[in-house]
Amino acid sequence: MTPAKPWKIRRRFTVGVAVALMLPACLVAPPSALVHAQNGIVRGSSQEEAMALGATLDRLRPLVRSTVPGTRDVRDLEVWIQDSPGLYSFPHASNSEAEGLWAESEDRILLARDADDLERTLAHELVHASLGDEWKTLPGTLEEGLADQISTVLVPSGAARLRAGRLASAALATGGLGLTLEVEQPRTGSTWMARITLSGARPSENPQRDVFRLAAGLSSTRVTPASKRGYYGLAYLLVERIVARQGLQHLLDLCLSAKEQGLDAVPRPWLLAAADLEDNPESWRQAALEGMGADELRELMRMHPDFVRDAVVDHLRDKSLADLDQVKIHLTLRESHTTLKLDQDPEFVAQVRAALGR
Ligand SMILES: [Zn+2]
Repeated sequence: MTPAKPWKIRRRFTVGVAVALMLPACLVAPPSALVHAQNGIVRGSSQEEAMALGATLDRLRPLVRSTVPGTRDVRDLEVWIQDSPGLYSFPHASNSEAEGLWAESEDRILLARDADDLERTLAHELVHASLGDEWKTLPGTLEEGLADQISTVLVPSGAARLRAGRLASAALATGGLGLTLEVEQPRTGSTWMARITLSGARPSENPQRDVFRLAAGLSSTRVTPASKRGYYGLAYLLVERIVARQGLQHLLDLCLSAKEQGLDAVPRPWLLAAADLEDNPESWRQAALEGMGADELRELMRMHPDFVRDAVVDHLRDKSLADLDQVKIHLTLRESHTTLKLDQDPEFVAQVRAALGR
């Protein structure tokens, strides 16, 4: 039995099985097209869709096995791609927020067709599906952090986007993050500066402690979507730091040591020491900001394109500019000093031009 992910939907399964006995029609019908890939059965709405996903499965599953120590084998793995991932068709059973689910009782991975990054989501779910009993003492939300961390290694094309989302969520959960926007007009020598603070509701007083206690990946854990994102972010931050400093095997060794000592979960101080983090929100917030480089800041802007663009457009709207090309627009993540030269980002400049009508 694998740790967190099966728990994730166990409660829903219990409800689902009871209802399914009375109303078998509530079970979602398998997608119509089926492909036997080397590493499992893939079902999708068309043969092309199933074949494409089958090729991805055949690439990723052996990589998960060779990358993650302490894995187990799932003999009859199936991967289904659906509009909304779920086993049952009655509305409250669907997990509309989830892009992927691992249903251990069925040996089945369920993926959302419109997932932000289908390949990365499959890698994440394959990690849940593959973790052996050795990992069972990984506490709270950390299995989510582990699945995310492995997914960034196996699908590097999606790494910056995932890191941006997770690290920003970790920073928001522990106090927020500050940006400085500077718009310089060399022709007049004037520089306009704005400080932008991104903040959100903290999941709790000490989210850096609760991430070890709450399994935010489980549907039975009642947390708001924003809190869930915060815990996923903190879990990712912790695992990423441990893997970067000590290696993945060290994280497994901590799990095994806890088991040998008869503990249910790896003690928090062991994990904090391995990640070089302290037991206070500010230590985690600083670590999250340290982890955000230019690639992550760029992705953060892509995910939330409005807030910086609107500020720039508002500032430039009344200006009589001979040539927008001469304006320098810099965005800095204050505490990490990571700076983006937005005036050299064609996508951003095009958006500003379109909004200004120039
Ligand atoms: Zn997960």
